[in-house]
Amino acid sequence: MNKKEMILRMERKGVKPTANRLIVACELNNAKIPLSLADLTERIPQMDRSSLFRVLTFFLQHDVVDSFEDGRGIINYELCETEAESLHHENHVHFYCEVCHRSYCLRDIQMIDMENVAMPEGFVSHGISFVIKGICSTCKKSNGVKNSFSGH
Ligand SMILES: [Zn+2]
Ligand SMILES: [Zn+2]
Repeated sequence: MNKKEMILRMERKGVKPTANRLIVACELNNAKIPLSLADLTERIPQMDRSSLFRVLTFFLQHDVVDSFEDGRGIINYELCETEAESLHHENHVHFYCEVCHRSYCLRDIQMIDMENVAMPEGFVSHGISFVIKGICSTCKKSNGVKNSFSGH
């Protein structure tokens, strides 16, 4: 997605594409993986933490981004895939790598029918968040390389 597409996308969601908002949205788009506030602070040094947080909170309210808790209890943010304005959040699974502490979005993996989970009476669900913990493919590969040198 280029900058122009990002502007159009924000406008469709009723969000005014200010400079700061565009920087954050483009960074999340370029990263390809979900990012925490700390990740974003590192990647966008020109913005301070509180402005970043303000943009993210605003994005959450307007369905531009989605958030979920990773394996450490840290909030990760990612761009919403759905184009239309929606009240419910996308239900999908995330993977947390315990080695590189990166979160991955597993949108293509269907675990259960998350839309139809039975709720106790009077409870209304707006989304389900699943986090699978383990080792990602990159870390698994580099770990194998390290081991082969460990004998020296
Ligand atoms: Zn990893
Ligand atoms: Zn995701």
